[in-house]
Amino acid sequence: MKIPFLSVGKSETVGDPVCGMDVDTGNPPGGASTHKGSIYYFCGPGCRVAFEKDPVGYLSGEKSIEM
Ligand SMILES: [Zn+2]
Repeated sequence: MKIPFLSVGKSETVGDPVCGMDVDTGNPPGGASTHKGSIYYFCGPGCRVAFEKDPVGYLSGEKSIEM
């Protein structure tokens, strides 16, 4: 996974750390969350809430969303 960086006015696509979907950083449907200085974007509010409960678990790959 590449590290997202701050880029005002520019949008790109990054992977949702929870479900792996591509998310447009210029208009993330689930908003964004900061963890240890990096910004993560989400496809929906559910993924953001899940990530904020256990960011380390999702970033390490130990956890994934249950469909
Ligand atoms: Zn998601």
